[in-house]
Amino acid sequence: MNHEESRDLYGRALSVLPGGVNSPVRAVRPYPFFVERGEGAHVVDADGNRYVDYVMGYGPLLLGHDLPDPVWSAVQSHASAGPMYGAPTEVEVELAEFVARHVPSVEMVRFVNSGTEATVSAVRLARGYTGRDKVVVMQGGYHGAQESTLVEGDADHPQPSSKGIPATFAEHTLPVPFNDEQAAREVFEEHGEDIAGVLVEPYLGNKGIVAPVEGYHETLRTLCDDHGSLLVFDEVITGFRVGGLSCAQGKLGVTPDVTTFGKIIGGGFPVGAIGGRAEVMESFTPTGDVFQAGTFSGHPVTMAAGLETLRYAAENDVYDHVNELGEELREGLTDVVADQAPGYTVAGTDSVFKVIFTRDGSRSLDDQCSAGCQQRPDCPRYDHCPKNGADVAAGETDRWERLFWPAMKDEGVFLTANQFESQFLSYAHTEADVEETLEAYKRVL
Ligand SMILES: *Cc1c(COP(=O)(O)O)cnc(C)c1O
Repeated sequence: MNHEESRDLYGRALSVLPGGVNSPVRAVRPYPFFVERGEGAHVVDADGNRYVDYVMGYGPLLLGHDLPDPVWSAVQSHASAGPMYGAPTEVEVELAEFVARHVPSVEMVRFVNSGTEATVSAVRLARGYTGRDKVVVMQGGYHGAQESTLVEGDADHPQPSSKGIPATFAEHTLPVPFNDEQAAREVFEEHGEDIAGVLVEPYLGNKGIVAPVEGYHETLRTLCDDHGSLLVFDEVITGFRVGGLSCAQGKLGVTPDVTTFGKIIGGGFPVGAIGGRAEVMESFTPTGDVFQAGTFSGHPVTMAAGLETLRYAAENDVYDHVNELGEELREGLTDVVADQAPGYTVAGTDSVFKVIFTRDGSRSLDDQCSAGCQQRPDCPRYDHCPKNGADVAAGETDRWERLFWPAMKDEGVFLTANQFESQFLSYAHTEADVEETLEAYKRVL
């Protein structure tokens, strides 16, 4: 593969963009390919190379790169009507109605412009609603680039995970390991009266993929109820991806107090949203005293793209298609891994997948989870499959990033750039793409 054009572009980018990129995960070594255009399930780079795309914008592109006619014409008509106004429009009401109709925990929505903005606002809402300062987060969880959640360590020793965040901010954040009910109980025993909320991805999607063990979210639900804290599901990745239109909360049957959205809900345009019960949501200004505002919030072009994407998914076989392909891909990967790298773990659900380079596995694979780790206690791999972010990070992450990712790229398969981020199927992917991808895994693993 020739990458001269991308290399030249990266040379220019390094002079004017820190690290040559606008989001650090894109700065793959030695340099990223620059995308010229998307075509269905593929991207074409500046040198004309084509890749099957499982990055899908890091999650937003449920329908792939070619927007179906109703989505495209809604985007065009809202853009040509004048891009935005600073006054309300019908389309934001329609999208809020759609979300409230389909997502179990949601009665009201506040739209913002990124997943980060959604989690910032959700944390402020939880604090304002409860009058408490502390938030529980999962070690290895990701809630965007915000001060309250860029925190590592444990509940006794929380520290900022980035420079630029005062240690005194991190003091109010209590990190616990995902899937550890005992740790959750202990943090509530010690700090229960000060905990405004628990912020959790239903599936760890940015250091994973890690599925919840049976009963974990139910335990968080009960602890929050017993202590008057809010359970906040960060569904920025899982929303309208896992569990279809009812999201991961519908699939898991656990109803949070507040949900954050992003990615798919904007149909490929910048977006975030916070949803929940009316009584909680009305704590936001102007009805309540928790300040929240945004010039671009509820942007008509984004709202139209999100609404028509979700309507399209409701009216067509989108979720059947992506989930069946996901199942097929994870089943195929389970076979390839069993043959060639039996220590590795195939993870994911619905249209999300990842092979985690875990270091050891069980001797018998009889009756293992057949299409991605579901944390089944009677699976022979159960004691070896990752339960939390630290377990994923303990795998062969350098091998994944430095050898496996570039080799897959050379095979024409575009994966997320490191071990940790989820990969996605779209409505544009086909069985032929999946078969080609499995052949590539076979050659590279
Ligand atoms: C992507 C993501 C975010 C941040 O969203 P941005 O739009 O990148 O700010 C927050 N939470 C989760 C779970 C995410 O996957």
